[in-house]
Amino acid sequence: MYVLLVEDDPLLASGIETALGMEGWIVSCVSEGHQADAIVQRQAPDIVIMDRGLPDGDGLDWVRLWRNKHITTPVLVLTARDAVKDRIEGLDTGADDYLIKPFDLDELTSRLRALYRRSSGRAAPHQTLGRLAINFKDKQLLHEGNEVNISRLEWRLLEALVNAPGKTFTPDQLQDRLYGYSEGVESNALNVHVHNLRRKLGNDVIETVRGLGFRLGPCQAPRGEDLR
Ligand code: CA
Repeated sequence: MYVLLVEDDPLLASGIETALGMEGWIVSCVSEGHQADAIVQRQAPDIVIMDRGLPDGDGLDWVRLWRNKHITTPVLVLTARDAVKDRIEGLDTGADDYLIKPFDLDELTSRLRALYRRSSGRAAPHQTLGRLAINFKDKQLLHEGNEVNISRLEWRLLEALVNAPGKTFTPDQLQDRLYGYSEGVESNALNVHVHNLRRKLGNDVIETVRGLGFRLGPCQAPRGEDLR
């Protein structure tokens, strides 16, 4: 999962970044709304964590702007304001969830997980896809009933594909989800991870779409679900 964190308190930001990193998620952290706007429009993160009190204004104003542009990226708002009016305002603006500071980091990660599941149409943290049984929360993976160990980056790749069955990702989009925005990447690194996942889980787990990129293989797509 690729999370954009918009928080101007450096201590809180680094605490959140560490907690999300331990979940194996990619985090890009910025402290101002206009920086967040650039990333949301260019890179389409899976989720945004948005502080309200930012140096360049109220984080909610950016959420409102995105919703007006039909950008549907799930947003969890962090706010120090706990009045009912402020909470309703946040949800009415198009935020998907909110947490009041100070909050528990475990609660934050569990809410993010739930938001991500909802945005990708999954109800439970675990799912069965063809020969695979996957538990993203506990990072457990069974292939034909046998436990398979995959690396942190392979988890990120698998999660991106499974959460958007039928979607074809360009190599750039997958690299963002594996490495985040700023990390330098060797150009063939993605191909190495694709190769390794195929070796461990079967060739048809990832389908190459010629000239475009990659998508979840057809036999792994949830039954009865239309490929988009
Ligand atoms: Ca703030």
